[in-house]
Amino acid sequence: MPYCENCGTEWNWGDSLKIGFTNNRKCSNCGDRQYVVPDNRLRTYLLTMLPLIILITASNYFDFSTQLTIAIAAVFFIIMMGVLPYTVKLSNKQKPLW
Ligand SMILES: [Zn+2]
Repeated sequence: MPYCENCGTEWNWGDSLKIGFTNNRKCSNCGDRQYVVPDNRLRTYLLTMLPLIILITASNYFDFSTQLTIAIAAVFFIIMMGVLPYTVKLSNKQKPLW
């Protein structure tokens, strides 16, 4: 789990997951606004997008049913929800994505 750069408190799973989507969030301990470190964010996007692209390609190639594709995507989504908070790193300042 990520640590607040301001007060050093370890964030809980829920807050870490939310900042993964919103990119900034106030620390529940000190109230300081924290941002996701950009290179980390880029890696998370790649981690999310790559298996999805593989899934879509595979579903066309192997002729998966729509239900199966949705089921695999749903399982993948749940796994991502669990993993995402562990990949997040926090910073006091917002940095450009590139
Ligand atoms: Zn804090």
